[in-house]
Parts: sequence; structure tokens; C-alpha cells
Amino acid sequence: MESTNSVIERKKVVVLGSSFAGYTGALELAEHLDRKHDIVVVAKSPDFVFIPSLIWYPFGLRSKEAISFDVRPIYARRGIEFVEASATGFDLANRLVLTSAGPVHYDYLLIATGPKVDFDSVPGLGPGRNSLSICNVEHAEETRKAWERFVKDPGPVVIGASQGAACFGAAYEFLFNVRYQLKREGLLEKAPITFVTAEPFLGHFGIGGFGNAKPMSEKFFDMYDIGWRTDSVIKEVRPDGVLLESGEFLPSKFTMIIPRFLGIDAIRNTPGLGNASGFIEVTDEYRHVRYPEIYAAGIAVFVPPVGDSKVPCGVPKTGYPSEVMAKTAAFNIAADINGSSERRSMPFSMIHAYCIMDTGNMGMMIVGDHMLGARHLEFIIPGPQAHWAKLAFEKYFMFSRSRGRV
Ligand SMILES: Cc1cc2nc3c(=O)[nH]c(=O)nc-3n(C[C@H](O)[C@H](O)[C@H](O)COP(=O)(O)OP(=O)(O)OC[C@H]3O[C@@H](n4cnc5c(N)ncnc54)[C@H](O)[C@@H]3O)c2cc1C
Repeated sequence: MESTNSVIERKKVVVLGSSFAGYTGALELAEHLDRKHDIVVVAKSPDFVFIPSLIWYPFGLRSKEAISFDVRPIYARRGIEFVEASATGFDLANRLVLTSAGPVHYDYLLIATGPKVDFDSVPGLGPGRNSLSICNVEHAEETRKAWERFVKDPGPVVIGASQGAACFGAAYEFLFNVRYQLKREGLLEKAPITFVTAEPFLGHFGIGGFGNAKPMSEKFFDMYDIGWRTDSVIKEVRPDGVLLESGEFLPSKFTMIIPRFLGIDAIRNTPGLGNASGFIEVTDEYRHVRYPEIYAAGIAVFVPPVGDSKVPCGVPKTGYPSEVMAKTAAFNIAADINGSSERRSMPFSMIHAYCIMDTGNMGMMIVGDHMLGARHLEFIIPGPQAHWAKLAFEKYFMFSRSRGRV
């Protein structure tokens, strides 16, 4: 990157969060800033967890160790300081992140804190209440124990994504993995499955649909004898089933629902930082619309919903786009610091769409030239190779990221 200033004052960049977006952003910043400036990562945990593999965790197919690594040695080698702390708020006027380890000053801030998983949005929803989750390792561990109990005493199953949810892919993958495991256990007869979703049609995925995903999903649901309810609003999750706003009650002995995501409390409680849901409004350079020294990437970013679904559906900000957003933001922060006029812009809608959905021993490879809007190129390849591709990608990801390659 070209530098126009001969003497540049040393700056401090704070990256908040250390997962797909934060980890990528921190390493990219280290690359661009070449130890001439300070980079500090603040995150609740030093573990990078490969969240996509949590769809397999409840069946004993993964351990936490197999899908996580410690970011600290990698940061140390790149001259990045790591602070293990929770952000509790922000003092925007004085450029401070308020944390459980005290205030941390920044000249530039990259917010990559992911979601608050909003179980309070539906009565009875969530771990410790009446439904299970796979959104983090602790939730997946509880789901693993529930699964062990369930296979000894099976019954109806409800899997789904509630009103306002965005992470539909995870719900579909878990649904098909549950079905695959039930088949292996010889329990399909005893465990009828229903999928409940806020989407207006199967295969909408919060992005308005994708190629022939709708007819293909319907075909698979019919073939596997899985019932479905689209446009669903969940009124209450009860110990023995799910009550929909339509009045229908779906009995269930094993319920896993992906809820809506919000921005984290520290953002939601800071006036002017996020919108009402706690997501950060950014430009196509991933810069805050009002605070030029603040950038954001990943799930923390606000992306307006697509189309006008009857029931609110969010747009999924998956792993690959989270990394692209972080790389774009890191480049532009470095440009700000180095006084370069070269900048990068990447509207969320234009990021390539890459996804592999696993169904246990099969799956679908989903490729599109961009995330949202009409595409020139979009295709879905179903088959067993998608399952193997997902396993191979997991191994590649863990190998490369645990060596600091992003
Ligand atoms: C079950 C499941 C399966 C998925 N499968 C896929 C898939 O197959 N492919 C795909 O592309 N995507 C998948 N996703 C989505 C993917 O996991 C997300 O896109 C990705 O995790 C987003 O990254 P992020 O960095 O924005 O947020 P996160 O991964 O949520 O990371 C947030 C970071 O912020 C930190 N943090 C949070 N709050 C605070 C705080 N108060 N103070 C300090 N630090 C904080 C956390 O410790 C963490 O480091 C899946 C998601 C789920 C739940």
C-alpha cells in the first residue's frame, strides 16, 4: 500500500472479537501494518471454535479439542497483544472499550463480536428452558446429553428456526443430521420429524432463495418423510412440544430451534453505536456510518432483510462473508493509518456465495457469484461428494487457520 506520509504517528487498533471476523481482521491488520502500529485483540475466550462443526457435536462425532485452537501463540508471533476480557460498554467520545479487565483505548476499532443469541424472544425457548441449541460449544454439549437421553426414549422431533432468525443453514443441516442418526439407530418409525421455519418457503435461507433450492428441498423433505411448516411464528416452546401462533401444537421430545440473533448487549446499550437490534450500520468499506474510526465485520454488521417475507427473516452472515468483510475493513483501517488513498469496497450483497450443507452422509454444494439479488451464476450440486467436501473443508480450515493463514 502506498504511503503519502513520511512520519506516521504510532496508532493503536483494537479488534473486538476473535472468531471468523475478528481473527481474520487481526491477522490482516498485522500484515498491512507491519509492526509499526499496535494491534490489540480483546475477546471473551482465546479459543477459536470452528462453529460449523457443531452440527455434528451432539452425536459424539466431534470433541471441542478437534474443532478449536488457541489463538494466543499465533497472535504472539505476529506481535498482536491478546486480552481475554468481555466488553461491557463503550465510551465513544473518549475512544474506550469498557471491559471486564478495565478500559482499553483505541485509535481505530474493529468490532467483530458476533451475535447475542436471543432466546428471550420466545417464551420457553433455549437451553435450560424447553429447547436445545447448537450455537456454541456449551449449548451443543447440553444437546449431546439430551440426544443420549432421547435415543433411549424416542418420540416426535421438532427442529427449526424461529421468527427473525437468520442462521437457517444450521437448522437445515442439523435437521438432516438428526434424521440420518435416527435412521442409523433404527428409530425413524418412533421419531416423526417436523421442521418449523420463519422462511416463506423451503430453501429461502434468508437470502430470498437460491437456484432450485425450493423444489430440491421439498423433494428431499418428501423423500425423507419430514413434515414442514413455513411462515411459522413460534408462540411458545413447552416441555412437550412447540405451540405455533396458528394455534397448532407440535408434540416434541427433542426440540432444537435456532433463534433470532441480536447485536451483543454492550453495543445495544451504547446509544449511536448500533441500530435497535444492536447491529452496526456500515458503509461498503465496513466503516461505521457515523464514527469514522470504527469499523465492523461479521455478524455484528447490519444487513437489511431481503424481500418482504410474512414472518421476519434475517440475512445469514456466514463464515466466508464474515472473513471478506474483515479483510476489507482491515485494508481500509491500514489505509487510514498509512494515509493511503487506495481503499477497498465490497457491498455485502456482492460477496461470493459459497456454502456446503451437510445432511449426514450426503449434502449440497452451493455456489453463487454473489450473496443477494439476481445472480448470473448459481448452482447447487447435491450428493455424497458434498459430505466429503465439508469434511475436507473442515480439515483444511483447521489446518490453515491454526497456523495463522487466513
Ligand atoms: C451451528 C452453526 C453452524 C454454522 N455453519 C456454518 C457453515 O457451515 N458455513 C458458514 O459459512 N457459516 C456457518 N455458520 C455461521 C458462522 O458460524 C458465522 O458466520 C461466524 O461464526 C460469524 O463469525 P463472527 O466472527 O462474526 O462471530 P462469532 O463467530 O460469533 O464470534 C464472535 C467473537 O466475539 C467474541 N465476543 C462476543 N461477545 C463479546 C464480548 N462482550 N466481549 C468480548 N468478546 C466478545 C467471541 O468470544 C468471539 O470471539 C454456522 C453457525 C452455527 C451457529
